[in-house]
Amino acid sequence: MDQIRREVPPPWSHRLQGVLITEREIRFRVKQLAVELGTTANLGNPVVIALLNGSFMFLADLIREMPFEIPVDFIGVSSYRDGKKPARLVFTKALDMDIKNKDVLIVDDILDSGQTLQKVVQVIEGLSPSSIRTCVFLEKKRTRALTIHADFAAFCIPDYFVVGYGMDFAGNYRNLPFVGILNDEQV
Ligand code: 5GP
Ligand code: MG
Repeated sequence: MDQIRREVPPPWSHRLQGVLITEREIRFRVKQLAVELGTTANLGNPVVIALLNGSFMFLADLIREMPFEIPVDFIGVSSYRDGKKPARLVFTKALDMDIKNKDVLIVDDILDSGQTLQKVVQVIEGLSPSSIRTCVFLEKKRTRALTIHADFAAFCIPDYFVVGYGMDFAGNYRNLPFVGILNDEQV
């Protein structure tokens, strides 16, 4: 997924410099990933815990391809960057479900530094599930070492700031059905 396509659907052509992953590529890969999850030993029928807000579109597509009963719950987490200080994580919604002795699959939009997922895994661990797996839509290839890797990822991408398919810039672009890269002047 290293190639940026310059043809951007007309409504977005002034705002995006390109498309990184098309709607068709997403549909194909998400189906494939659901099969991978379904055939993974010991995953069982996991409780799916999705991180709000960015994962909502990936979650919706992924669980509709999983042909077994799956409870779904949400954790809200936001990272706020304040000047030059490292991002501060704030939990905006707690889990409602009891996950004690359950197999858990955490679903997020994108793994960048890994800070978010690492913190969420710690919080979930404190609730005594029997196992925890992580599944992200995108994993960014970074030069610096990640503190955590996802057990499952739909795509690995270069270190671009991406929008669409649930992911935002200043609250917008979540509704794009593909993954795009903003024009430089927007960021
Ligand atoms: P991390 O804690 O792994 O550095 O970043 C995780 C969160 O930052 C993601 O869940 C996502 O919400 C946000 N994020 C990281 N990279 C991007 C990006 O390229 N685009 C968007 N829209 N959000 C990102
Ligand atoms: Mg997120």
